[in-house]
Amino acid sequence: MHGNDDLRGELRSLVSALKNHVAGERDAYIPVSRLSRKGFGRTRPDRLAAGRAEPSAAAVKPPVRTGPASLAAVRKELGDCTRCPLHRTRLNLVFGEGSPTARLVFVGEAPGEEEDKQGRPFVGRAGQLLTKIINAMGLAREEVYICNILKCRPPGNRNPKEDEIATCEPFLVQQLEAINPEIICALGTFAAKTLLRTESPISAIRGKFHDYHGRKLMPTYHPAYLLRNPDAKKLVWEDVQKIMKIL
Ligand code: URA
Repeated sequence: MHGNDDLRGELRSLVSALKNHVAGERDAYIPVSRLSRKGFGRTRPDRLAAGRAEPSAAAVKPPVRTGPASLAAVRKELGDCTRCPLHRTRLNLVFGEGSPTARLVFVGEAPGEEEDKQGRPFVGRAGQLLTKIINAMGLAREEVYICNILKCRPPGNRNPKEDEIATCEPFLVQQLEAINPEIICALGTFAAKTLLRTESPISAIRGKFHDYHGRKLMPTYHPAYLLRNPDAKKLVWEDVQKIMKIL
């Protein structure tokens, strides 16, 4: 009889230890979208305020994070993409480039002719102007990350189609999760409308920070638009200065 009681007692404490373990793991998980780089891994202040004491160092276990894939993993998953018809006409897939830990990410529309040739984003005339804007912000291209809504050039630089966006955008979302930037700068109508799911014209939404899944998103005019409308450069300068204030 005693043996059975002992067994029951042991089982009870095992179940209770398991429950505590599961609760601890659940609490340790914080959605990546809520984590700023500065606060990463710290106990959330609301938890402390709610009277939950910080666990002793001995009791702290590494938290289980089902965090984002690395940029390299996203690139690997994308592979030599044939998910939409654009692969038939592209010369090179343009994944994006820059710092994998950038605090600022620029998102354009899609590769143009020069980008398609080189496999790099924003390297044509509009790209050279973007580089000047980045430099004027006191940054180097290597310090930010530059990418596009689409990774392959639409023939003749036509507008991206809905099914192409639907196929490609999930990879951009994963890139943004991997980089975890503080600010995204959407270049032009197309990037802004796609990311913000809005029909508002760029003239109405530029110059203000918008929420993009908990991150700040600043829409501004596309550098190609600035090549045609140089007067708008001062508006872009105003917009990027708002970004610089935060960085
Ligand atoms: N325009 C874009 O939107 N992206 C590029 O990479 C080049 C030009």
